[in-house]
Amino acid sequence: MSSNVLDQFLQHHLDDLKGKGLYNVIDPLESPNGSKIKINGKELINLSSNNYLGLATDERLKEVATKAIEEFGVGAGAVRTINGTLSLHTKLEDTIAKFKHTEAAIAYQSGFNCNMAAISAVMDKNDAILSDELNHASIIDGCRLSKAKIIRFNHSDMDDLRAKAKAAKESGQYNKIMVITDGVFSMDGDVAKLPEIVEIAEEFDLITYVDDAHGSGVLGKGAGTVKHFGLSDKVDFQIGTLSKAIGVVGGYVAGKQELIDWLKVRSRPFLFSTSLPPADIAACIRSLEILMESTELHDRLWENGDYLKKGLKDLGFNIGDSETPITPCIIGDETLTQTFSKRLYEEGVYAKSIVFPTVPQGTGRVRNMPTAAHTKEMLDEAISIYEKVGKELNII
Ligand code: PMP
Repeated sequence: MSSNVLDQFLQHHLDDLKGKGLYNVIDPLESPNGSKIKINGKELINLSSNNYLGLATDERLKEVATKAIEEFGVGAGAVRTINGTLSLHTKLEDTIAKFKHTEAAIAYQSGFNCNMAAISAVMDKNDAILSDELNHASIIDGCRLSKAKIIRFNHSDMDDLRAKAKAAKESGQYNKIMVITDGVFSMDGDVAKLPEIVEIAEEFDLITYVDDAHGSGVLGKGAGTVKHFGLSDKVDFQIGTLSKAIGVVGGYVAGKQELIDWLKVRSRPFLFSTSLPPADIAACIRSLEILMESTELHDRLWENGDYLKKGLKDLGFNIGDSETPITPCIIGDETLTQTFSKRLYEEGVYAKSIVFPTVPQGTGRVRNMPTAAHTKEMLDEAISIYEKVGKELNII
């Protein structure tokens, strides 16, 4: 018998969300998550994945993943510290360190998991964390888990950060103070002001933590936002995910050897959750090697991003101020945004609407994620569908 209290709770909250049109219906894909996808038997141009470089379906990765299954099986069999560390795991961590230009790295099962792990392994109730107000949910949860005092600063507002860093430092209340930011903010495609953040960190002796989930593979010729600004030796924690540009799954911290040594003995998902499976690790290693061998995919991603941005801007859409290939198409009104996305779907483009509370009220948008795998023909087709639907709904 199920609990009445639970039944009432669920019904009340689900009805509330559905009533407000905020209940997210998930569309399962009947195809790989490539530049074209199939949903409900319908083929669509996919502008919603984080598969920036198209590596999620790359034949070279599939080949090494298959081989790893033959050699190591499908599961790692234990947590890292018991006997779930395969030689593949250490090879992956060495490859990440090389990719990020750091002394060492540690891999986790996901980027989300990594933020939960890393922040709470170092920060505690006697510390403070200065966190950009638009940081990702996993950073927010990681900060909460640490029990440190969370001090939010206005998005990329360096005066606000400086004032709050100064006040925290001068209060003498905290043992350690950390500043955390996304490298690239995924809703608008803007880039963190890392040179200023590092300068403020030096002035007030802050630990620096950059989550570059959307910057790795994209900025710094692929090496990420920290490298883009030439700050590899100035950022303590370089966080990344292996699930977006890298195309597979997993997360990591890259940094100094002692930091990684500490995380290996103190971060709980490393100690208590089974490690990444062989196929995924092998694919990640190959993916990172491809990125280090050539900038071809990175260059194509930027070409496609610029092409789509220009196409939509020329039509009169508001594409915001993105500094990366992420191309928001800001509609404003929540209902109109949802209708717009639905009509795009009907016409053959998959571009999800993103509305409040994910973004501030009145800034509803359809977010486009062009990738290296899109052809010009696909982008042209998407642009002409945008034109048709935009005119039909009086958006342009
Ligand atoms: N950090 C940021 C900034 C992200 O955008 C995401 C993915 N949405 C994550 C962490 C989580 O990464 P993963 O999907 O690998 O768990």
